[in-house]
Amino acid sequence: MNPALLSQKDYLERPQLEALQLERLQTIVAHAYQNSPFYTRAMDAMGVKPRDIRSLADIVRLPFTQKTDLRDHYPYGLNAVPSEEIVRIHASSGTTGKPIVVTYTRGDLDIWTETTARCFLMGGVTNRDVAVIGYGYSLFTGGMGAHQGMERIGATVVPMGGGNTEKLCMLIQDLGVSVLCCTPSYFIHLMEVAQRLGLDLHKTTLRHGFFGAEPWTDEMRAHIEEGSGIHAHDIFGLSEIMGPGVAGSCDAHNGLHIFEDHYFPEIVDPATGEALPPGEEGELVLTTLDKFAMPLLRYRTHDITRLHYEKCSCGRTLVHMDPIRRRSDDMLIIRGVNLFPSQVEAILLPIHGVVPHYELVVTREGAMDELEVRVEVTPDLFGDKVAVLESLRKLIAEKIKGMIGISAKVTLVEPGAIARCDGKTRHVVDKRKK
Ligand code: ADP
Ligand code: ZN
Repeated sequence: MNPALLSQKDYLERPQLEALQLERLQTIVAHAYQNSPFYTRAMDAMGVKPRDIRSLADIVRLPFTQKTDLRDHYPYGLNAVPSEEIVRIHASSGTTGKPIVVTYTRGDLDIWTETTARCFLMGGVTNRDVAVIGYGYSLFTGGMGAHQGMERIGATVVPMGGGNTEKLCMLIQDLGVSVLCCTPSYFIHLMEVAQRLGLDLHKTTLRHGFFGAEPWTDEMRAHIEEGSGIHAHDIFGLSEIMGPGVAGSCDAHNGLHIFEDHYFPEIVDPATGEALPPGEEGELVLTTLDKFAMPLLRYRTHDITRLHYEKCSCGRTLVHMDPIRRRSDDMLIIRGVNLFPSQVEAILLPIHGVVPHYELVVTREGAMDELEVRVEVTPDLFGDKVAVLESLRKLIAEKIKGMIGISAKVTLVEPGAIARCDGKTRHVVDKRKK
């Protein structure tokens, strides 16, 4: 199929889309029930049979799936097809214990490729673009996922992988690279390296960045777009559901469109699991509508967002989702105050002299939690007078106190002091014993 035609599915009229979703939901529920002992048990326990799913609203009768279910059934316990049909395995980067393994049939890979391609098409990529994939090519879904989508569009793909930033700066110039896919924090690192090398990104051919795999803020987007002259797009996904390209931002910047014809979204109360009405903030729950190797019903993502069903100004009928800024499980509770790393990021970024590399270190002295915010300052400022740094430190501490309500120790560190990574950045170091 002509890649441009893939985007037609972004504009289906709602009744047509919902009919397609229902048909796919009924098929996948029957498939999961018949072929995955895990779902046979889980649905039997809820007293629900595939034939009970008569409308999309009936989805709430199905059991939730949790990350622990994938871990407990490592590696193949949730497979619903024979091994002959499995053509690919990926795994999440889980830092402790066993990773989470996900499997794909050829048809699953086609769907993944299609939705990632639709995400890039939405951002304006064409077959004239030269696209560097800066996500890791590994068990992580980022590299292969973005690669497949770009190739589907016919863009010239440069499978760079993570790291080797100086070489990337060279290739951007030599190959006429116009599109880059990587994490937002890695792009900020690239901006610093480019500056050090005397490369003005505004003057290169680079036009689009597709940034995802970790939360980022509007402030970070502004920093990226102003500092490099590129258009920063958001791409969201998770390996359990498929990989990158479950949702992507359109030009209206009205959040991200979820490719609902393949991934069915719900919003639930993270504490009770109760379904919430459209427009309310809660935890995103996703059902894979036509992934056959490892179908997941009502998967609890822990990502907090809101869904909007009114038609987007870009013309797409697909639901739009607020950008993911936080997860229900990354909330820190410090001396009783709830805090998300993204709140600190939003405070830091507009402050002159601060670069978006920061770390929240939480410790416990006796019964008291202490928060230290370590933040890098720009090289010119770092060489400045002690009084200047001291007033900057005070300003940051006051803003955190004023806006979040917590006293934090602010430490300004020299440029480069906070470790860079080409994968997901972890902004929190929690040293408290749980
Ligand atoms: P892993 O489980 O190995 O960390 P995943 O790619 O499966 O790798 O991680 C998925 C999670 O990453 C999502 O649930 C979400 O929390 C986060 N994420 C991915 N893309 C984005 C994005 N564009 N914005 C915010 N968070 C994101
Ligand atoms: Zn839109």
